[in-house]
Amino acid sequence: MLNFYPGPSKVYPEIRTYLSDAYDEGILGAPHRGEQFVQLSRATVGLLKRKINIPEDYYIFFTSGATECWEILIQSLTKHKSYHIYNGSFGEKWFDYAKKLRPNAEGLAFDLNEPMPVEQLKIGSDTELICFTQNETSNGTQVSATSILNLHNRYRDTLIAVDATSSMAGLNLKFIKADIWFASVQKCFGLPAGLGILVCSPRAIFRAKQMAERGHYNSLVSMYEKMLNYQTTHTPNVLGIYLLRRVLEDRPFVKALDQELVDRSQNLYEFFSQFQDIQLLVENEEVRSRTVIALQATERLVDDIKKRALHHNIRLGNGYGPWLRNTFRIANFPAILDEEFEELKRFFLHYYA
Ligand SMILES: *Cc1c(COP(=O)(O)O)cnc(C)c1O
Repeated sequence: MLNFYPGPSKVYPEIRTYLSDAYDEGILGAPHRGEQFVQLSRATVGLLKRKINIPEDYYIFFTSGATECWEILIQSLTKHKSYHIYNGSFGEKWFDYAKKLRPNAEGLAFDLNEPMPVEQLKIGSDTELICFTQNETSNGTQVSATSILNLHNRYRDTLIAVDATSSMAGLNLKFIKADIWFASVQKCFGLPAGLGILVCSPRAIFRAKQMAERGHYNSLVSMYEKMLNYQTTHTPNVLGIYLLRRVLEDRPFVKALDQELVDRSQNLYEFFSQFQDIQLLVENEEVRSRTVIALQATERLVDDIKKRALHHNIRLGNGYGPWLRNTFRIANFPAILDEEFEELKRFFLHYYA
């Protein structure tokens, strides 16, 4: 089965070997306060920094996934309100969770074909956290490095948190331009679900300490204190961390991966432009995602394409949220091989022949 679902997505085939290695190495039953786990955790943090260009002085934490990060950040870094800029379902869900926890949370929706409207923002000084989604998995848009830089320059005193779930470990993100970044590993990391990576600047940790919120098992200060010894507040997903370490050891540096994904996304957008009854959902090239490609057609056609693809052992991603029925999505993640995309293209050429 060729898997182009944008998460959970194709896992690296090496996972099979890593799984039995994990068993053989005896890490699976090892205590999470013991030396074997601490060494694994430390090695994984070091590899994350080296392989995906996370600044040396940033802090890294293990969570259960991106959704948990949404909650941790609102709980531990806001007392009053966060501000959410979004154009799709994941950004909006984050905003919804924030409103449940902090009813004063504010949000601004923007159009899928527009860049993030940094110039139009009116964010008050009582806002403690600015939140946005770098790669909106639901509709295949992305916020460019330039927009992130502009936001950073405009709101230098406010913490900025970025959901990079479907781009971290694929794109060469400029981590220094925001305080907080997070992702789940079942997207660009090519790993099974159940582990999240939360990345925080020294300034974010400083604020967390000032707020001293300790009401939750994963309050950021508690996580920070435990992570000083490369430990977690609770028994973590040791297998997930082990697999992450192995994948990071074996894969290229993110800079090379980024270039490959950008080239391949351009190729895919060009390829899909040739079909009259399939449209690229995102018309504005500037805001098109490099890692998730969203294609639009009539509900009937989308349904038929997905069914016939499955028949050829190709799994396409369903649409999401408001685009559930009239779009399908294709992951352009590092674990997927070029030759798999060639087969995907052959399927579409054949479909229309
Ligand atoms: C997949 C995804 C999430 C949710 O990840 P979980 O692992 O289910 O918590 C959040 N945000 C974005 C942008 C995503 O793509």
